[in-house]
This record gives sequence, structure tokens and C-alpha cells, in this order.
Amino acid sequence: MSARSIPIVTLPSGRTMPAFGLGTWRMGENARKRRDEVDALRHGIDLGVTLIDTAEMYGDGEAERIVAEAAGGNRDRLFIVSKVLPENASRRGTVAACERSLKRLKTDRIDLYLLHWRGSPPLAETLEAFVALRAAGKIRDWGVSNFDMADMADLSRVAHEQAGTNQVLYNLTRRGIEFDLMPWCRERKIPIMAYSPIEQGRMLGHPALRAVAGRHDATPAQVALAWLLRQDGMIVIPKAGSRPHVEEDIAALDLTLDSEDLAALDRAFPPPAKATSLDML
Ligand code: NAP
Repeated sequence: MSARSIPIVTLPSGRTMPAFGLGTWRMGENARKRRDEVDALRHGIDLGVTLIDTAEMYGDGEAERIVAEAAGGNRDRLFIVSKVLPENASRRGTVAACERSLKRLKTDRIDLYLLHWRGSPPLAETLEAFVALRAAGKIRDWGVSNFDMADMADLSRVAHEQAGTNQVLYNLTRRGIEFDLMPWCRERKIPIMAYSPIEQGRMLGHPALRAVAGRHDATPAQVALAWLLRQDGMIVIPKAGSRPHVEEDIAALDLTLDSEDLAALDRAFPPPAKATSLDML
């Protein structure tokens, strides 16, 4: 498999980021898996992946160290997303958490820094810290994660600019955001980062997914990823802990679903008919 180019998405700041990258949740939790995890990410980078999604929470910081190891001398080619935990998201706590992440990531800046989910610190404090970190060159863009409609509305009351992204649970089995959150973000040109895009593997045995996959000589995971990747302003970040999964997931970029596929998937996984609260994993 040779390196391939990956489509880009434009952030409200005007900067761009890749529409496809690799996640790192559950990495760094088991020392025996560490070598394979570094190898999987490095393999992805060799194949053209430049977006890596991580968080201070993952493996208690160990996932960020794995990202640093996999990045090696390629840091400048990469777009790294990390996240501050809500319990650290006060004005001073956010800055301190970011400094710790930068050390573990062995880098001088995080490309996109997110509030992992909303907690008790006032949003205005977290935003102040994000703006200060950006002014100091320690982050390039900021955003949020697991923010529902009401959270986004609160955010827009205190923020002087749009969030770079809202990273949320979104896949064929979790389509609730299509009713309101997604149109709200689209209107404001805020890209969505779809996490758990293959529902952590749980959806892969679904007969409809298998049938569509069969028509294209593809796999169910590739169909689930291609269904997300075809949408404008969508960033998709599967986690893959082995070379075969990395290769399979990247190849989803080459799969185009036709109207017959999309109709079959809509029948099996119907779009929402009413507002629901945001799912979170
Ligand atoms: P996911 O990407 O939907 O699924 C990951 C699981 O699927 C892993 O067990 C992986 O196994 C398996 N897998 C990957 N490619 C496969 C393939 N081609 N065929 C079969 N199985 C495959 O779930 P996720 O890790 O929850 O979500 C992705 C990323 O989103 C996370 O890693 C994290 O970076 C981010 N995330 C963010 C939040 C948030 O609150 N902001 C929450 C959840 C996730 P192997 O490991 O064995 O390859």
C-alpha cells in the first residue's frame, strides 16, 4: 500500500486539517501492547495519515507519549489534536494541562486543543486559557467535544469566535446529531469530528453493512467509514491498533457509496425523526 493524499476540511479560523486521522483511546493502557500501538500509528503516518487524535485522559497521558514516539522526526507533517479534562479546565488548570501534554507529546504546539467534555469550570475561563495558549503559540486552534445543542448555545454566548470543531459520537448507529446539532454546526461552518466511527467494532456484524460491503468487495468497517467520509465538513478518526486495521481503515478513503447503498443504509439505520440528547461514550 503506498502513501495516499487525504482530503482536507477548513476550520472557522481559515486553517485546514485532514478529514481522516487515527484515534488513540485505549492506547497506552497495556505495556504489552505498546510496541504494536506505536507501530500501528507509525505505519499510518508512513501511509500518509497526518491527523492523530489523543487526550491527556488516554492511558493517563501514556497515549500522548505513544503519539510522540510514533511521530519521531515527522512532527512537522502532523496535525495533533489533544484534549483537556474538564476537571483541569479552569483558567490556570487548562494552561498547566496543556504544558503537560506538550511535554508528553515532545512538541512545542498542539494543532487543535479541545475541552473533552463540559464540566464545572465556567466556559469563559477555559476559553480565556485557550486564547492565551494560542497567543503564546502553544496551540493553533481550540474546540470542544461532547457539546450538545445547549452547550453550543452557551459557548456562543461567551466566545468571541467559533469553536474549531465539536468532536462527538457519530456513526451509522448514532445519528441523533443529524436532527439539530449537525445543521447548527454546518450553518456556522464548524466541522464535526466523528468519534467511535465504527462504534468500537460493535456494528461490524450488521447484515445491512455486510451486504453493502459485499457489493463493493469492501469490509463493513470501510462502509461505515466511507459513509461518514462522504459528508462535507466531517472529520473521521477511527482507532486501529494493528497494521492490517490501519490499512483497511485508510482504504475506506477510496470507497464511494452509491445512492442504492445510501438508501439501504438509511433503511437499516434510519435518520432521527426528532431531537434526542447527545450520546457519549
Ligand atoms: P472506533 O474507532 O469506532 O473503534 C475502535 C475499535 O475498532 C478498536 O477495537 C479497533 O481494534 C477496531 N477496529 C479498527 N479498525 C478496524 C477494522 N478495519 N476492522 C475491525 N475492527 C477495527 O472507536 P474509538 O476508539 O472509541 O473512537 C475513535 C477515536 O475517537 C478514539 O480512539 C479517540 O481518539 C476518539 N474518541 C473521542 C471521544 C471523546 O469523548 N472526545 C470518545 C471516544 C473516542 P484494534 O485496536 O484491534 O485495531
